[in-house]
Amino acid sequence: SVAALARSGAGAYVGGGGQPGAPGAAPLVVHNPYTGGRVATLSDGGAPAAAAATAAAAGAAAAWAATPTADRAAAVGRWADALDAAAGDLAAVLVAEGGKTLADAAAEVAYATSYLRYYATAAAAAHVDAVTPIDLSDGGGGTGVVTKEPVGVVAAITPWNFPLAMLARKVAPAVLAGCTVVAKPAAETPLSALALARLAPLPPGVVNVVATADAAAVGDTWMAAGAVRKVTFTGSTGVGVGLARAAAGTGKRVSLELGGLAPFIVTADADLPAAVGGLLAARLRCSGQTCISPGRVYVHRSVVGAFTSALAEGLAAAAAPGDPAVEPPDGATRVGPLIHSGAVHKVQALIRDALDGGATLVTGGTVVPAADSGGDAGHVVTPALLTGVTDRMRLFREEAFGPVFPLSPFDTLEEVVGRANSLPVGLAAVALSDARVPFGGVRLSGVGREGGLPGLDPYLELKYTLLG
Ligand code: ADP
Repeated sequence: SVAALARSGAGAYVGGGGQPGAPGAAPLVVHNPYTGGRVATLSDGGAPAAAAATAAAAGAAAAWAATPTADRAAAVGRWADALDAAAGDLAAVLVAEGGKTLADAAAEVAYATSYLRYYATAAAAAHVDAVTPIDLSDGGGGTGVVTKEPVGVVAAITPWNFPLAMLARKVAPAVLAGCTVVAKPAAETPLSALALARLAPLPPGVVNVVATADAAAVGDTWMAAGAVRKVTFTGSTGVGVGLARAAAGTGKRVSLELGGLAPFIVTADADLPAAVGGLLAARLRCSGQTCISPGRVYVHRSVVGAFTSALAEGLAAAAAPGDPAVEPPDGATRVGPLIHSGAVHKVQALIRDALDGGATLVTGGTVVPAADSGGDAGHVVTPALLTGVTDRMRLFREEAFGPVFPLSPFDTLEEVVGRANSLPVGLAAVALSDARVPFGGVRLSGVGREGGLPGLDPYLELKYTLLG
């Protein structure tokens, strides 16, 4: 099974096989965020494995680029089939390594697969193969022709919150475009990425994965390598900006999908039950640990009371905090654990900061230990509802990345739109990502777009030829 493959012991998959760990390196231990138990122990190849991955990807690049696009598209389609066949196992891996609820995990597998399916379409292949003639005859120059070529080896670095889907969103267009890939998953969630690579029906070296506890060593190795021509990153703003700086030294292309702090606006005439339903679905997804999670809730002053009561009722009915591996009864939303204790502490610190500043905690915000853990594990925070939050509080300036609902009153639409757009980040305001559309941020939320036909362009170099 995929789960067994993922746990096979090698933390790096290079050139079509497992890569041994660096001599003397400590193993990479993967923990279940809810139980605290050990899920897997992987060898950690560190910088040497990163260098081996670069060599494997560079070695496979010419033959893969020369493979007809239709054949590459067919391979991406077979990769999607392989994910479908392994969907149950992959969801189990996501629950075990990331603490996702079964429902969120199944949704992520389907979401990851949708990128492979999209980039296997004829429309995507036609975009790669498009040839644009330019008539230059009036200057006596004949005809210009613009074709597309793969940019070369791509380094993909991904976060723990969507460890399968964020990697699929990068490798699917890269591989269709004819690039080869070196990828580094987050240390917390390496198993799904290793499984994705092992499931790929691709020649050895086209997709390589290096899991490690030393992200900087692997990242530095790839940023310094001249053979790596592009980096695509999803994660925090600080790390992304640092990678872009390092990538500049070798003239790499850069795509960054960084943090956000999505606003959610409830107007005076809003349908309150619909607003509550939409907010609960968006914010409780992955226990609030998504980059498009609505972390700032602006409510028109005239409906603050009614909306607060309705949201508190919705939380009481919908949220059943606890074990993500157990399906809750009656289709209720299960609130699973945060990724680790650091994430719990961050949520607690942001709530404390708001309360110190005069906000009111209506409900939630307590930490629930895992059953049978003796109180040491769990990492489940009960959904917290706060009123009277202001723009100066940390909750309205930083991602809590947890199940926190901070409410702030507003008076006019002009005021609230200004406040919603006042941050240096800007990523999303509704749940909107889809394989067919270009997704990405502005300002400090990132550079570039992923998804849709525009999502292929970062992996393609334009080549102009003059036919005299
Ligand atoms: P998060 O807050 O989601 O953990 P990070 O930006 O820390 O965000 O992590 C996203 C990805 O970036 C992970 O794969 C992580 O290991 C990686 N990462 C963190 N620091 C570095 C670094 N210095 N160089 C390269 N990758 C890094």
